[in-house]
Amino acid sequence: MGDVPQRRVTYVVSNELAHASSLLPSNPKRSAVVHSLVKAYGLLDSTKNSNLRVVAPVAATHKDLCVYHDGDFVDALLATDASKHETDALFGLEDDCPRFPNLARYVSLVSGGTLTAAHALRDGFADVAIAWDGGRHHAQKARAAGFCYANDCILSIMALRKLGRVLYIDLDLHFADAVAAAFPFSPSSNVLVLSLHHAGPGFYPAVPSGSSSTLPLLAGASTTTFARIWNEGLELVCKAFKPDAVVVQCGADGLAGDPCNVWNWSLGGSGGMGDIVSRVLDWRIPTLLLGGGGYSSANTARAWTYLTSIALGSPLDLESHIPDHVFFPLFAPSFTLDVAPGNARDENWRNDSHQLEEIVRGLQALAGSMASRQESS
Ligand SMILES: [Zn+2]
Repeated sequence: MGDVPQRRVTYVVSNELAHASSLLPSNPKRSAVVHSLVKAYGLLDSTKNSNLRVVAPVAATHKDLCVYHDGDFVDALLATDASKHETDALFGLEDDCPRFPNLARYVSLVSGGTLTAAHALRDGFADVAIAWDGGRHHAQKARAAGFCYANDCILSIMALRKLGRVLYIDLDLHFADAVAAAFPFSPSSNVLVLSLHHAGPGFYPAVPSGSSSTLPLLAGASTTTFARIWNEGLELVCKAFKPDAVVVQCGADGLAGDPCNVWNWSLGGSGGMGDIVSRVLDWRIPTLLLGGGGYSSANTARAWTYLTSIALGSPLDLESHIPDHVFFPLFAPSFTLDVAPGNARDENWRNDSHQLEEIVRGLQALAGSMASRQESS
């Protein structure tokens, strides 16, 4: 361990980004809570972390967004008058994606933050780049959806393709529908999208059947489920794919205690969120860590603070006490960093469910076909 060089980490934040991102209607104040906790633990102190670069996002331009999105839709997103526009319904700017104050600035800074992080990897300035305000995986080419306005995940994959093959792993509770649609599975593709998510009747978003991208987990999914999928299938696929860059969407809405209340995932232990992300980082391939869902701001801050410490090479103690800072009261009642599992039963291990078997077998078959294709090519 001792002689493994520390990873160079780029962390994207600015006061303006945190302020704009904190106005997102689905996650009010969350960005401020996240960055404040990371800072309260001293992780952004570059005198303590010489391998860390904290950078402000370069705002994404109309042209940057049009690398994926349609121009008319980007016009609507970047319109600076906050009044209702005739095209709002057409572009999904209603219901769960309403216009809100400074939407244009929000979109440019959040997508720009993810692109700033991706460019640090692409240009060789960083081994790991972190943009916790990104991860907006539901936004479509010409339509806002599921609390997501512009799809920074897709934009980052497109930027990282300059490095070669890009693996996208989505840990959010919800299916990465727009990312999977943008990069449909094909054995010859140089982008592989893998989305672990919950699926069920009426659960958002609809999941197409038979897609290699989809790894649907039942309610109560816990560390043992993630450990099994990772150990017996997912890591084989990732290694067979031989990525040159990795994007991990670290949505925290599958963690225990989230208001979505579906999975029962936790931070620590084998198969915990920290373990999965640290195993990705152990591949030593340029890796972009993005945020995503997470509707308990305190637990999301815990998760992304812990992941930041892992990326920096000195994982925080999950039993540690939350440092005194402006959002301290939000961390009641435990006031520790850990997000421990609750009591929900993990339905993936029910005797009458073959969900896990099927996922693992599917991943093993995929890994096998990738490996044999590479041998024959
Ligand atoms: Zn989600």
